[in-house]
Amino acid sequence: CGIVGYIGHREAYPIVIEGLKRLEYRGYDSAGIALFDGNDLKVSKTKGKVADLEARAKIEISNTGNVGIGHTRWATHGVPNDVNSHPHVSNSGELVIVHNGIIENYDALKQELITRGYTFQSDTDTEVLINLIEDVKKKENVKLGKAVQVALNQVIGAYAIAVFDKNKPEEVVVARLGSPLAIGIGEDESEFFIASDASPFLEYTKNAVYLEDEEMAVIRFHKGIKVRKIKDDTIVPTYVQELQL
Ligand code: GLU
Repeated sequence: CGIVGYIGHREAYPIVIEGLKRLEYRGYDSAGIALFDGNDLKVSKTKGKVADLEARAKIEISNTGNVGIGHTRWATHGVPNDVNSHPHVSNSGELVIVHNGIIENYDALKQELITRGYTFQSDTDTEVLINLIEDVKKKENVKLGKAVQVALNQVIGAYAIAVFDKNKPEEVVVARLGSPLAIGIGEDESEFFIASDASPFLEYTKNAVYLEDEEMAVIRFHKGIKVRKIKDDTIVPTYVQELQL
């Protein structure tokens, strides 16, 4: 299973797809991608291989767009099928997530969200998390980063996630607890790469920030990265490593 993401000046699609191929060695049963094409959110996902995703994405989404997240899934909650594949979109259609890991208390959270009017298409724990984030964001009227933080503090489990809002596609929020997550930093912070390991972005940049457990980051196009503790809002100084080949 793996996560890839891109935000910057290049086309996100080929970077995300090639990145997913580099992460194939980690094992998976499904693959998917979400892109912001400058106008709207486009999602394509399927049971099967990244090659199957490419065949499908060719029909379902235009390849243009500078923000994208992708996923290879190793199913834990819900059988491997198209609907359970990631990315998952929130009820409003605005927020989108990819997630590696497990949300252990997903059922209690899901029942609570159902009483608040939320509906679910998949059997995944991940779809619960993105709707929890949406619920917090609307209820507390906070920014995406804050909503992710508040939601993660209600979650028991393990995760690496990447989330964005189609209304604010210049920003991607990532977080980690128990699953690896690296952020590649392009020249002059003009582009950022997100991946489970550095292999998807090594050809573009050697500069990377590795999130530690219980950290999250808000990544803003042209503005940089802000890393925080998920628990208590402490700002973590970003330590940029220069990767060696
Ligand atoms: N628990 C999530 C699911 O079953 C993510 C699995 C993964 O790590 O790929 O969809």
